[in-house]
Amino acid sequence: MHQLKLLKTFHPLTAIAVTPQAVKLLLPVAETLTGKLLLSESLAEELNLGGNPAVETYDHSLAMAIEERWSTHKALIFGLATGAVVRLIAPLLHDKQTDPAVVVVDAMGTSVISLLSGHQGGGDRLAEIVAEQLQGKAILTGGANGLGQIAVDCLGIPFGWRRGTGDWTAVSAALASQKPVAVQQTAGSTLWQGYLPPGHGFNFSGTEATAATLTITVQDNLPEHQGHPMAQWHPRLLWVGMGCVRGTDLALLEKALLEVLARENFSPLAIAGLASVHLKADEVGMQQLAQKYDLPFVTFSAKQLAAQSVPNPSAVVNQEVGTPSVAEAAALTATQVYGEGGKLIVEKVIVKQDQQAVTVAIAQGKREYIGKPGQLWLVGTGPGELSQISPAARTAIREADVLIGYGLYLDLIDPLRRPGQICETFPLTQERQRCQRAIELAQWGLTVAVLSSGDCGIYGMAGLVLEELEKVGWDGQTPGVEVFPGISAFQAAAARLGAPLMHDFCAISLSDLLTPREKILQRLTAAAQADFVTALYNPKSQKRTVLIEQAQAIFLQWRSTDTPVALVRSVYRRDETIVRTTLAEMLDFPIDMLTVVLIGNSNTYNYQDYLITPRGYYANA
Ligand code: SAH
Repeated sequence: MHQLKLLKTFHPLTAIAVTPQAVKLLLPVAETLTGKLLLSESLAEELNLGGNPAVETYDHSLAMAIEERWSTHKALIFGLATGAVVRLIAPLLHDKQTDPAVVVVDAMGTSVISLLSGHQGGGDRLAEIVAEQLQGKAILTGGANGLGQIAVDCLGIPFGWRRGTGDWTAVSAALASQKPVAVQQTAGSTLWQGYLPPGHGFNFSGTEATAATLTITVQDNLPEHQGHPMAQWHPRLLWVGMGCVRGTDLALLEKALLEVLARENFSPLAIAGLASVHLKADEVGMQQLAQKYDLPFVTFSAKQLAAQSVPNPSAVVNQEVGTPSVAEAAALTATQVYGEGGKLIVEKVIVKQDQQAVTVAIAQGKREYIGKPGQLWLVGTGPGELSQISPAARTAIREADVLIGYGLYLDLIDPLRRPGQICETFPLTQERQRCQRAIELAQWGLTVAVLSSGDCGIYGMAGLVLEELEKVGWDGQTPGVEVFPGISAFQAAAARLGAPLMHDFCAISLSDLLTPREKILQRLTAAAQADFVTALYNPKSQKRTVLIEQAQAIFLQWRSTDTPVALVRSVYRRDETIVRTTLAEMLDFPIDMLTVVLIGNSNTYNYQDYLITPRGYYANA
């Protein structure tokens, strides 16, 4: 089975079922989410599920099986009574930073309750995804959700920000009770500010009296305010360059780092990563330091470092390593590679102890390090009605950090958008810029859904994005690309008409923006001659009116005047119109860019209100 990359967000994940009905409901959920289904050995035997790779069994107690998974799992989905779940997990609860997301599904799959770790653990989003799959309803009771608001404690997750100290509960509570919260952002992307839902409660100007403060900063300096709760996010902008005498241990490296950070009031949570020279790639202390703080450890060649101009070059170092600077140059280089450039904000500090010595320097990047590979999801949103979007595409739309598409398509999927989701619209003519923007954001580390109406691979954005990726030398891996098919206009139109595409068919776009006219005419002739049922996309615009006339003339050379033709406009949208006509008369009716034109083959006929192209079997019988 094809496993959606996007749904690995909640790994490791286990769904738990204790009845055959719950197994029926949750096995497909576990499979799509690339997780496991846990059930008792006897139930697995009864249902003959022993060989299923997604199935895990427990032989004694369910409570023990849950306990074993509690600290390692990101998500647990229970198919049993909420009360039973509460009793099972009560002894295991620790805190909302580490407890897994817990979701409970009722026996029919109609209600999907986000029970635990709804915000930071992502339980609310998981509940929405599961509800989406089961066509049920997600029950979310967290403060921000009820109001269609974003949660302060989730705000920075897409940008890889780290949650710092503060009274998160009180700041969240202030927003949930619709009290204004001051935002002081001195670092990190401000992209999020442009897409806040109405009535969001954030105050950026500092003019109003506020009930709490959220700071977004690389510093760690919550001022004390009696009765005024504060919390801080830390965008990862700081690249720490380090050099050391071979064998310097973790203790001294850490001491040096923390001393430098403390001196400048920088939060360790604002560190993007550690950087050094290739020679140090195997330096055990540095590796341990990176691991301890959950940071990448990147190294550069001496030549690369030597090219940087730094305030404190050293002739001795140059002689030993081949670059006059390690710490300063590595910090700067890292900002150039990962942070869109930057500047040195802490010059080299040397910390010595016995035979050991460390140099530390810090550079601040222009753009924060997200720390996860971005994704590009190329999503077909179908003809227009929400029910005609595939569940996988709906999930992609809901999960993406950023949506990119034409205004009209974004409006059509509006109910699927999450509060606070970044949505960038572009005018119809700027496809290329749109692709480049999507790629840029995904290369940075965001999950970007590029939306096309119908199918994204049929006169849509999928090809354009892949072509642009090729131009920038994409390695095929990062950002990850996934295509989500959609119902194309010709399929949607055909469904409204009956069965006109029942035999060989083709689609031809009459837009000559990207295709030479000659080629279009040639294909029209070939399709007409070969008796294909033909769907004409982009049939006529205000400027381009001749091609549809030429198309009609070409088809009339090969097909009879009474060949059935359907003009289907805005199919599955509120203003849908369908005109059933003939090849001879088709131009007597309005045709525009929201219309798809279906021309029958020589056997296509009308019966009642239905258009039928014979499948062909009867003729042979
Ligand atoms: N990717 C889209 C096609 C985009 S090209 C798809 O797979 O459907 C744009 C053309 O598609 C329009 O000019 C029109 O011919 C057709 N089209 C798209 N949506 C339509 C709709 N809802 N009703 C009728 N035609 C539609």
